[in-house]
Amino acid sequence: MSSIILEARDIWYRYPRGMEAIQGISFHIRKGEKIALVGPNGAGKSTLMLMFNGMIHPDSGTMLFDNVPIRYDKASLQMLRKRVGFVLQNPDRQIIAPTVYQDVAFGPTNLGYSEQEVRKAVEASLRYVGLEGFERRPPHHLSGGEKKRVAIAGVLAMDPDVLVFDEPTAGLDPSGSEDIMDLLDELNQGGKTVIISTHDIELVYPWADRAILLLKGKVLQEDIPEVAFGNPGLVRKSRLSMPTLLELYGEIAKRGLALPDRKPHSVLEMMNAIDMAFNTRPCHTEPGYIMVADVDALDRESLAAWRAENPNTAIGAMGTRAKERAARDGFHLEYTYGVIDKCILKALLGEDSLILTTTAMVRRVFDRVERFNQENGIAIPVSGLILSSGTSITADVTEFLTGDHE
Ligand code: ADP
Repeated sequence: MSSIILEARDIWYRYPRGMEAIQGISFHIRKGEKIALVGPNGAGKSTLMLMFNGMIHPDSGTMLFDNVPIRYDKASLQMLRKRVGFVLQNPDRQIIAPTVYQDVAFGPTNLGYSEQEVRKAVEASLRYVGLEGFERRPPHHLSGGEKKRVAIAGVLAMDPDVLVFDEPTAGLDPSGSEDIMDLLDELNQGGKTVIISTHDIELVYPWADRAILLLKGKVLQEDIPEVAFGNPGLVRKSRLSMPTLLELYGEIAKRGLALPDRKPHSVLEMMNAIDMAFNTRPCHTEPGYIMVADVDALDRESLAAWRAENPNTAIGAMGTRAKERAARDGFHLEYTYGVIDKCILKALLGEDSLILTTTAMVRRVFDRVERFNQENGIAIPVSGLILSSGTSITADVTEFLTGDHE
């Protein structure tokens, strides 16, 4: 188990002339976890998160970062804020400079990076959030989702270990919200600990490793999402609602049917539970195949040529850069969220799909499909697709990941 990165020990806090906002909270968060702080308005989520990078000093109790109590002198806070990045709910309050470049450069410049280091950090962060080419744009002319990504890039430019997001999907449309959740997932895959606050149970249920339910400044429950959101009494008390997948699973279970022990986190897993309960076979035909292409190693012409030869294969993109690349090259994407599971569902119906993604995420696709195959005793073929110099070559997992196909 990885080590603890953030810890709260019996934290209390009262706002000046306000009520006791935090009342004896303790918990710990491990490196690499995806944590959701969930609770109704006024539960204390924002107050608590502002303590993670020292913006609020508890009245009593101790916040620890990397097992060391947080110190509140200027130098210690500056060090802490480099390691714990905070993305505010409203990007208009976070974005301060007249251009995207200047805004993202603000953090690294303040940390004393050289001009060249600043440029490198800004370019890498904008690329990461899919905003390459936006450098000179005035942020107030961007869409809500784009502004949010500028704010995220500004924090990423300091390369923090922990990223804290206050209601990251507030005010975004469903597709914008999914893009942000996908980005948070990608950041986590890249090794960051990600902590978010939210009311959006449906989005957070399949995403979080653990959920911390807050109510009136206290921790009500802290557990894996199926437990944290699986107790109807607690969910009602917190003014939340149960994720639809959990509710459905519960209803099927009440009919006394056999179900897998693991509660479903996606439609694919729900379909598996239904197949098990009703004794139906998951795959009636020869399964379709799933291909993976690395967007960092393909050219537009090769993908276009492959597309022309395979017009019926669905294309999905996983990760911000893959989506941005597909949009720039004019490819219609059928899936942009929960992509692997959706492609598995398609394969079960005998249909084929291609997943565009970045190098860091390729292994994840192979692992997920292979795990699904093993657990269900079926054999959805999964392979890599190398698209360059006008040709397409299919490669198995090892060849694809080691580059031995060349
Ligand atoms: P949440 O993020 O879960 O909505 P908050 O942390 O914003 O909750 O608020 C927790 C409690 O603290 C609420 O009762 C809220 O009214 C109070 N509060 C928040 N900010 C202030 C403030 N600046 N001054 C006084 N009270 C505040």
